Amino acid sequence: MVGHERLSMSLAERLRRRIETLGPIDLGEYMQAALADPDSGYYATRDPLGAAGDFTTAPEISQMFGELVGLWAAAVWQQMRAPDPVLLVELGPGRGTMMADALRAAATTPAFRRALRLHLVEASPTLEARQRQSLSGTEAGWHRSLASLPDGPIIVLANEFVDALPIRQLELTASGWRERLVDCDGEGGFRFLLAESALAALVPGTLAATTPGAIAELSPARLALADALGRRIRQSGGAALIIDYGYEVSAVGDTLQALKGHRPHPPLQAPGTADLTAHVDFAAFAEAARQAGADVHGPVEQGAWLQRLGIAERARRLAQKRPAVMTDLHRLIDAGEMGTLFKALALAPPGQATPPGFE
Ligand code: SAH
Repeated sequence: MVGHERLSMSLAERLRRRIETLGPIDLGEYMQAALADPDSGYYATRDPLGAAGDFTTAPEISQMFGELVGLWAAAVWQQMRAPDPVLLVELGPGRGTMMADALRAAATTPAFRRALRLHLVEASPTLEARQRQSLSGTEAGWHRSLASLPDGPIIVLANEFVDALPIRQLELTASGWRERLVDCDGEGGFRFLLAESALAALVPGTLAATTPGAIAELSPARLALADALGRRIRQSGGAALIIDYGYEVSAVGDTLQALKGHRPHPPLQAPGTADLTAHVDFAAFAEAARQAGADVHGPVEQGAWLQRLGIAERARRLAQKRPAVMTDLHRLIDAGEMGTLFKALALAPPGQATPPGFE
């Protein structure tokens, strides 16, 4: 009876009971539950990508994106002095589209294609099944987290992964920074509640001069990823490519956003039914990776990065058969589209050559 009741209870109802019993939760916990709860989390229960889903990503717009990422990986492998074997790892591969396109392009460097061992880090069993379809015929290992990856030189790729890792928010009040916790609103929904928090001490000093009401976003989960990647790359050799939307300099601002059916949705409404993300603070991510011992290259705007890798020429060639490719090109590189909001950042061991596109 109890088990049955739990299964039939919505995620919102479970969070409500938990808050009523144990008190308000931080936004990171709320995001983690909304996105990754194994029974009712957003990613666990659906394929969110594409026109019929809630959002579209660069690899789903055009094959050119994954192909250029594959060529980038092959070039970086050569900068690494061509280790064999080398792990090629993708974090949060979605439908597996980017990796399928990247592998096709990587095959133009046969020695790289032979040397690479493919590993995918995916929390959602639903999306893992989708990736297995896209990559059928390709040998690969799946992991729930980075912790179980094998040792050795590694090339890590992550597109729109970091934005899905939980953030926490603080608001500046007359008496200093207070954390925004998630509480029940008494009417069956959720609301923010301000509370004193040890996290206040971690708000960068550069944000201190802002006016009351300002929101600062911190993400222990993202910094932990930057630290883990930085350490791993320093120790094992390799590189990481992080592409996401975000800002280059730490700044105040509420970037928490939920999307449902390609439209904004209130972030605290019906957790688990909408995508929930926040912009990436590339300055904070880069600093954590640097402190872990990696060299950081970029961030570079996605439009500029793709153009340095030759996307315009590739598009012109593809457009001879399929003129619509030019529309995709503009979605990926134009300033009003994904070209400037999205950024690319690379990590490499100290002294390794600058990865392509980051010169
Ligand atoms: N990279 C893909 C998908 C982006 S959506 C693309 O560009 O189309 C985010 C992806 O990260 C999904 O595959 C989601 O299931 C996965 N994900 C989110 N949080 C995760 C976590 N903590 N651990 C592992 N995978 C996660």
